[in-house]
Amino acid sequence: SPVVRKLKSIPKAQYGGRHTVTMLPGGGIGPELMEHVREIFRLGGMPVDFEVVNIDPHSDGNDDLEYLITSIKRNGVAIKGNIETGSLDTGIASRNVALRNELDLFVNVLKCKSYPGVPARYSDLDIIIVRQNTEGEYAMLEHESVHGVVESMKIVTAENSERVARFAFEYAKSHGRKRVTTIHKANIMKLSDGLFLETSNRVAKDYPNIAHNNMIIDNCCMQLVSNPHQFDVMNMTNLYGTIVSNVICGLMGGAGLLSGRNYGDHYAVFEPGTRNTGTSIAGKGIANPIAMLNAAVDMLEHLGHNTHAGILSDAIRKTVCDDKILTADLGGSASTKEVVNCIKKYVIEETSKMKWF
Ligand code: ATP
Repeated sequence: SPVVRKLKSIPKAQYGGRHTVTMLPGGGIGPELMEHVREIFRLGGMPVDFEVVNIDPHSDGNDDLEYLITSIKRNGVAIKGNIETGSLDTGIASRNVALRNELDLFVNVLKCKSYPGVPARYSDLDIIIVRQNTEGEYAMLEHESVHGVVESMKIVTAENSERVARFAFEYAKSHGRKRVTTIHKANIMKLSDGLFLETSNRVAKDYPNIAHNNMIIDNCCMQLVSNPHQFDVMNMTNLYGTIVSNVICGLMGGAGLLSGRNYGDHYAVFEPGTRNTGTSIAGKGIANPIAMLNAAVDMLEHLGHNTHAGILSDAIRKTVCDDKILTADLGGSASTKEVVNCIKKYVIEETSKMKWF
């Protein structure tokens, strides 16, 4: 695929076989979870060094953000928690959105594959969400035209619609998927969502072996909660993407499980799929570490460290599915540390079997 090919050809910061990756702990549960990521990487001898960058959510300037962007541009790859968006009246736009825009991370991909044995509304789900990540309702172009009347612009461009649709179809083609479903509200937003749908229909013609259908977002929500197994790859604009991502994560076990990948032509950023700060559970040692650790697996795969990615994802699977060491959000009673300790045990076990010569 053009996107995947380009991404693979871009050199990442690397020295002696090790990569340097920007790590942004963010707010809420981010810092405690990143500590576990670092410790597991140390124990597993993962060939990655982290450049940790912190952002002060209360600062009223953007110096921190600029430093972060420079760091990601230098390293090519980042793992992040969610940056807290300060109070509504600071005038600072969401730094998470600004980051995605500055790096042109035009697509967000969530692999929603059920973990056998995890209590969930549905089991055996296997859905890929491909979401436009930089425009739509997230254009951050809002103003009060006259007192009491606010206008908010939703931007849809043919260029970005095409990039996302092509990504969805290329993904389907290279991963043996059968169908892409484009989600929209083109019956009401005839121009904006109309353009997205029309572009997807046009791109679909280049992929005769992959079925393409479309579904209005409201019906899609109903179908998701009543018959989610019908979905294969889903293609959608930004706001529908965040809603659908959260619905599917909820169906599969909640905010603490799945990771999300953000890609552009030049950079890649990995994070928990639902982008929660989890501020209300921070510091209590009860947050589910799996989503952040899955983001670390994604990051290792992206860097081509497939053996290490496999070791970590196997350790996660054994802990969650076999030993059923689960945090409270998944119906268990384990602390973050108990989950992490079990994962560490498996990582150490597997790593010690590896032959390095
Ligand atoms: P807060 O950030 O104060 O928790 P919120 O409504 O913004 O409030 P989110 O961060 O969006 O909450 O998270 C949504 C819900 O998912 C919350 O109940 C949060 O506690 C829970 N949650 C998010 N991440 C995790 C996690 N890793 N483990 C367990 N629960 C989580």
